[in-house]
Amino acid sequence: MPYLNYYSTVEPKVWIRKILLPDRTSEEEREFRHYFQRRTLPMAQIAIVIGFLLISGVCVLDWLLMPVEFSLPVIKLRAVTMLSVLVVLFTLTLARPADPRLPYLIMVAGAVVGASTVVVGAIAAKSGTPFVVWGTIFTTFYVYLVLGLRFRQATIAGWPVFITFVTLGIIYDAPVGKMAHGTLFLLFANLIGMYACFLFELDSRELFHKKKLLRNLARTDGLTGIDNRRSFDEHLDDVWKQARREQQALAVVLIDIDFFKLYNDCYGHRPGDHVIQAVAESLAGSVHRPLDQVARYGGEEFVVVLYDPNEQYVRDYAEYVVAEIAALEIEHKASDAADVVTVSIGAAIAWPYEADRPGQLLRGADDALYESKAQGRNRSTVYRLDKPLRATLSLDRIAL
Ligand code: GH3
Ligand code: MG
Ligand code: MG
Repeated sequence: MPYLNYYSTVEPKVWIRKILLPDRTSEEEREFRHYFQRRTLPMAQIAIVIGFLLISGVCVLDWLLMPVEFSLPVIKLRAVTMLSVLVVLFTLTLARPADPRLPYLIMVAGAVVGASTVVVGAIAAKSGTPFVVWGTIFTTFYVYLVLGLRFRQATIAGWPVFITFVTLGIIYDAPVGKMAHGTLFLLFANLIGMYACFLFELDSRELFHKKKLLRNLARTDGLTGIDNRRSFDEHLDDVWKQARREQQALAVVLIDIDFFKLYNDCYGHRPGDHVIQAVAESLAGSVHRPLDQVARYGGEEFVVVLYDPNEQYVRDYAEYVVAEIAALEIEHKASDAADVVTVSIGAAIAWPYEADRPGQLLRGADDALYESKAQGRNRSTVYRLDKPLRATLSLDRIAL
């Protein structure tokens, strides 16, 4: 598989398994399907419009070229099983948010349009036109290449068209030579379609995988593996908005390792790195709620966002972290605060107002941290900012 080896950062076997036997219960597969649908939906919409125009044009040709006793049923069949199907499908593609079942409907529609192309071909053959395979070949490529189906769906939509062709050829007793010829062409149209569709899905999976990797890399701190400053800034903006909407409190906790420059000077930079990693690991284990976040703020500073805590919770949390880091018992002979590595903590809790900015919360935490340092380090200080929005609202309600 030179193509796969050249292209993939992931084992080719893994891609093949994911394409042939996807695990639809996995979160990653769900994300990929969502991504794939977003990527291919505009393509499918254009394909549906083109298909509609083409079939309409062919109906006009049928009307002009076929005897009326054949052209009438053919046009009716095309109108019911192709044109109306495409119109319904196009309408469904306009729904927002896009329905995750849409690809399956496109798959069924592809099979229906394909099979009815074969039936039309058979009727045309009865009318004296040779058993036409070109329309069916075209539809086969249409199903595989432009409807934006995943490999498995396209295959499930493509092969019934082939089977209908062979079955009708046998029922209508089509000339053996022409049937063999048509069957061979259609067989290869399916195989080429499957191959192209497979490569397209492979490319999409690869791209999805790389984008995800890049996104994770851009948001992760290289030394500790926890979220980095960029990720924290984004998260703080998001939870700030959410806290404002839901009228909840928000706390920012800044954690700074004490006398860390002296630690580096005394023990070296590499052991210093290990201390940063140990503190990060300990902090990462200290939050459990989905909207809380631990990040490396820079250097030997960390930051924690706590969503909807009460003031006592923030105080307890900060005290807990101070104790946990000291309990790691990492020797620090050069420290004036203790004989082990310790941290100073500054936290601020606020109830976001319309006019406020998350920066104020950070400044509050920074001031509190300064206070902890000034008081002798290895301790925490918590500031409470603003009047709670909830209290203001309840006063308003009472006034009303
Ligand atoms: P304070 O108690 O006031 O916080 O003093 P401090 O020495 O901890 O603070 P200062 O800001 O003076 O120094 C921080 C030091 O952290 C300086 C820098 O060499 C070290 N540092 C920052 N990032 C890293 C890192 O990734 N690895 C290591 N080993 N050291 C780092
Ligand atoms: Mg610092
Ligand atoms: Mg420090």
